[in-house]
Amino acid sequence: MAKLDNPIEIYKILPKTNCKQCGVVTCLAFAADVIKGQKRLNQCPHLDNNILEELEGKIIKQATPEDQLKQALEPLKREIVNIDFAASVQRLGAKLSSDKLTVKCLGKNFTVDSEGNIISDCHINVWVTVPLLNYIIYSAGNDLSGKWVPFRELSNETVWNSFFEQRFEKPLKQLIDTHPDFIEDLIVIFSGKYTETSFSSDISLVLHPLPKVPILICYKKPEEDLESKLNVFFDATAEGNLKIDSIYRLCVGLLVMFQKITSTHI
Ligand code: SF4
Repeated sequence: MAKLDNPIEIYKILPKTNCKQCGVVTCLAFAADVIKGQKRLNQCPHLDNNILEELEGKIIKQATPEDQLKQALEPLKREIVNIDFAASVQRLGAKLSSDKLTVKCLGKNFTVDSEGNIISDCHINVWVTVPLLNYIIYSAGNDLSGKWVPFRELSNETVWNSFFEQRFEKPLKQLIDTHPDFIEDLIVIFSGKYTETSFSSDISLVLHPLPKVPILICYKKPEEDLESKLNVFFDATAEGNLKIDSIYRLCVGLLVMFQKITSTHI
């Protein structure tokens, strides 16, 4: 049998009875967990031992999103070598000192050397470092237009739209719902600024995760029977300054940071 490298191939060999004895609701969900390395095939008690022996070595586990990012880091570091830092200062809205480039992310300095190594007083996670290096290498340096657009207007690819909604906007709304004072922390800790907008919201706040990629967070508090609402907007030039996948990853990185802060400080 060929290598098994996706959930559907695993699913084909399962009994498909959804009996839940493996602790998962359906056989398909079990197959997805096996390919992610979160379950082992022998946790389905209905598979014959001979089949298990034959198949275990043929399963190719998918890398986690974080591992995929770690793999993306090395090629980016190699590309940084080709970037002329001095000529990129204006394009990136950055500063140059001792041959190193300093880029402000959320008001904090992130200093990058010519080999792509990053130094910051802030906690550095791979969800932020990969977009930062992408920004340095690929940003067109477009000046901001002042026109705010939702994420879906930046990309025609619905897969990114749905990821963005599910993995950034919704969890961020939940976080602010449960920690309403966190808005003030965004102002104090991350140099956020309140702003006036034409969008219907109680709070409109601008953050600069990268100098030429600001985000606008509009939050409407819950009232009576109405749920709260949260929408995130980008400058219309955003995709020229950061590729869409990096915009998504940057936002997920911010969320990881925000969740850590709320779990430890609030
Ligand atoms: S124990 Fe096996 S058959 Fe039952 S749900 Fe899990 S994978 Fe499917």
